[in-house]
Order: sequence, then C-alpha cells, then structure tokens
Amino acid sequence: MTATKSITGSLITFVVITIIATAVLTISCTSGKEANGRIGIVVTIPPQAEFVRQIGGENVNVTIMVPSGASPHTYSPTPRQMTDVANAEMYAKVGSEIAFELAWLDKIIAQNRDMLIVDCSEGIILQENAGDHDHQDDGAEQSELDPHIWVSPLNAIRMVRYIYDGLIQIDPDSKAYFEGNMNPYINELEDLDRDIRDSIPDEGDRLFMVYHPSLGYFAREYDLTMLSIEEEGKEPTAAGLTDLIQQAEDHNIKTIFTSPQFNQQSAEAIARQIGAKVVIFDPLAEEYIMNMRSFVNELALALQ
Ligand SMILES: [Zn+2]
Repeated sequence: MTATKSITGSLITFVVITIIATAVLTISCTSGKEANGRIGIVVTIPPQAEFVRQIGGENVNVTIMVPSGASPHTYSPTPRQMTDVANAEMYAKVGSEIAFELAWLDKIIAQNRDMLIVDCSEGIILQENAGDHDHQDDGAEQSELDPHIWVSPLNAIRMVRYIYDGLIQIDPDSKAYFEGNMNPYINELEDLDRDIRDSIPDEGDRLFMVYHPSLGYFAREYDLTMLSIEEEGKEPTAAGLTDLIQQAEDHNIKTIFTSPQFNQQSAEAIARQIGAKVVIFDPLAEEYIMNMRSFVNELALALQ
C-alpha cells in the first residue's frame, strides 16, 4: 500500500490587471505636426523647397504649390494640396506679386488661419516687368512687377534667412540644428554669387536674350541687360519679331534662353534667322544651386 499525497493546490491568485484607462486622448491639434512628426511647410515654387529642406532637414515636410513644369502665372491648386495646407504650420510665400499668390493666397490662408505666413520678398526692392507696358493684359491677376526675385542668389540668401526665422519660431528647440544646416548652404550661395561675378566677361555689351523675362533680378544684380522676346506674357507680333531679330544681330547674340513652361517657337524662329542656339533655362527648377550654376556656364559662353 502506498500513501498518496494529494496536493491541494489552492492557489488563489489575485491577478490584478490594472487597465490604465487613461482616457486622456491627447488631442494633438495644437502641435500641428504631421503623423511622421515633421513640420508641414508649404511653399509656392520649387526653388523655395530646396531652401526649406536645406535648413529644415529631417524636421520638415515640404509641399510645393506650383509643381515643376507648371507656370506660377496660371496654375490652380489641387484638392490634395489644399489638404496639405490644412495640416501645415507655415507658408513661405514668394511675396513678389507672383500671379499664383495674388489669385490663391487668400483662399489658402482661409484653409488654415493658424499657419505662420513668411514673406520671402521682405526688404527686396521689386522692379517692374521687362518689356513695354502699352497694352493691358486680359488676366485679372497680372502685376506690373517682376515676380522672379529668386534668380538672384543674393535674393535667395535673403529668402533662406526669412525661412530660417520662420522655422525657429515654430520649432525653437531645433534652432541650433537649423542654424547648422543653414550656414553651409548660405556659404554655397555666396560661392555661387562670387563665381557668377568671376565668370561674366568684363568686355562686350553684357547683353543676353531670353524668351520669358524671368532673369530681370539676375541682370540687375550683375549689371547685365536682358532682352526678352515675350512681352507682358504675350508672343511678339510680326513687327516685334523683326525688331528682335535686328537687335539680336546688332548685339551678335549667339544664345537664346527659353523656359520649359513656354512655347519655344518664336525663340527658335529668331535663332534660325541669326544662327544662334536655343538653351533651356528653367527658373523654377527645384535644384536651385545646381540649376543656376549650369545657367551661368551657358551665359558665360553666350557673353563671350
Ligand atoms: Zn515667370
């Protein structure tokens, strides 16, 4: 006979499951940060996106309103872009009476009244559009001013500093990070400015021809004369074309710069007449410094 020992496992376990019902559903509406934790920044044109990304680095998410290849003179935003606007914390406007902003900025701000609006043109003296002003344009949002301030690298430096000022208002904790990003980028822009001055020949009539007059601030900065084929957003007349061909011959123009957003035909017609070549310069390219450098290389050749 064996005695069986029965173990009565009277284990009364009190498992205290503490359900922390922290019904504190942190409504993060005030921070405005996106799901990935980045700050939403909206800009009007692609070159500004380079400026914002160079300073903001991994802290920012950039939305460009007028995408590459579209014209800021005519573009309308998509519903998707308006959603990005609603989630953004800052809008960096060009501010130079660029047609897109004249037509849309009020409606954009109405989508998100909490956004910080940064004016990238502050302190920049705006100049009139190239070409005559004899005729009135049909477009309601036409300005007499030349909006293309960013094509001057010195203006680009001003724009970069305004964007930095905006970013540190929104995210003051990242001031050192933003500054560490901005300084080398400004150095690069200063190098670009110096290289432009070095590459433009002193002799010659310092004159170049473009289709769309987007390089007025560049011409002003470097003491050059820009001849534009387009006048007030319009194709030249037959008489205007004849006059342009004459001027191009008088000044021995060998290169005509055109923009991808516009019709190339009249530029090509003039180029054929005078034996010049057509070179594309996109004033709205997102890779700002790279784009300006390749333009300046072509311009230096054209001015020789
Ligand atoms: Zn333009």
